[in-house]
Amino acid sequence: MKIHEYQAKQIFGRYGVAVPSGVVCSSADEAVAASRKLGGNKWVVKAQIYAGGRGKGGGVKLATTHEDVRKIADAMLNHVLVTPQTGPNGQMVRRLYVEQGVEITHEYYVALVVDRTMQCISLIASEAGGMDIEQVAMQTPSKINKMAINPLIGVNVETAKGMARKLNLPPANWSEFAELIIQLYRVFDENDASLLEINPLVMTHDHQLLTLDAKLNFDDNALFRHPEIVALRDLDEEDLLEVEAARHELSYIALDGNIGCLVNGAGLAMATMDIIKLYGGNPANFLDVGGGATAEKVTEAFKIMLRHPDIKAILVNIFGGIMRCDVIAEGIVQAAQEVKLTVPLIVRLAGTNAEMGKQILAQSGLAVISADNMADAARQAVELTASSMQPGSMN
Ligand code: GDP
Ligand code: MN
Repeated sequence: MKIHEYQAKQIFGRYGVAVPSGVVCSSADEAVAASRKLGGNKWVVKAQIYAGGRGKGGGVKLATTHEDVRKIADAMLNHVLVTPQTGPNGQMVRRLYVEQGVEITHEYYVALVVDRTMQCISLIASEAGGMDIEQVAMQTPSKINKMAINPLIGVNVETAKGMARKLNLPPANWSEFAELIIQLYRVFDENDASLLEINPLVMTHDHQLLTLDAKLNFDDNALFRHPEIVALRDLDEEDLLEVEAARHELSYIALDGNIGCLVNGAGLAMATMDIIKLYGGNPANFLDVGGGATAEKVTEAFKIMLRHPDIKAILVNIFGGIMRCDVIAEGIVQAAQEVKLTVPLIVRLAGTNAEMGKQILAQSGLAVISADNMADAARQAVELTASSMQPGSMN
């Protein structure tokens, strides 16, 4: 789960991490009131969306007058922001964060990540922080430093200072840096984060370290023990269909292809996506109805898939084990009665009650294309979507 920058900074603040003062706003009037309240003569207006790269996309702007703050807020709010991380369609800006402007003398990069290879949390830091960190990582990976954190001990002051040295931080800031890393590790650990990133962590003109940006993601599997984090969730920022699917306990991820996949089991779902790719097609989603799905759940799954704007065919690939093929077939028939099936439906059923399932589909009068095996199913789905993309055949 993701949260906004301003929310991450509020959490950081509770752990003693130094962050600039700021106010979250949803109108230009509020933005001006915020800059007046914050005082000073320099402010930063930051679009709050669940994607980074805002600096490059025009979602982070400096203002030196209250009138500037108003103009910037008017231009950002309720407009779509496209950044290198949003994709070409961008994201609607519904909220801004107005912060006191900071004089920067250097930008560093600091992150805590779940390091699967080392089986621990690792600290990643660089003295070449800022908006081009991806380029730094690609072109001069030696400037990215990594340090594994022993989960039994946590962050040790000496090793954190070792990182400060690698970043060429002035020795006067080493203790401050070590304390920051210890606080961040506590944020990560106590909130079951999956990613914590500060880019940039800046050196101010009065030689203090300050967290200018904040990204904090959480491990979905641990959310049950953090209701206060779940409460921060902003559904406006999430994929509508993924939210709807989660409500019905379906594992659904929207992808950018055009073949909808309804599958039981994550492994089979991945194999189905692979085989679609193998035949030259592209999956529109990953949808796992799970082991014990009911006909109602399958109906919901269908409804969700059909709302995907690019869908050109649906491939149902079921291996009946605990899940019975006749239940899936009933779900398909029920769904087809409730929603108009506008795209070809290819079905491959194997395992428990497969024959019964096929019979239900055959007797339903639905135009179902039955496939004998996975390869056959994928090939037919790809052929059908490929022909639908030929010029003139769309309408
Ligand atoms: P991101 O592009 O989405 O990661 O947004 P950031 O919060 O990292 O902001 C992008 C860039 O804007 C930073 O790397 C800074 O260079 C600049 N920036 C952000 N806040 C301030 C500020 O208070 N003062 C100055 N001078 N620059 C800022
Ligand atoms: Mn940033």
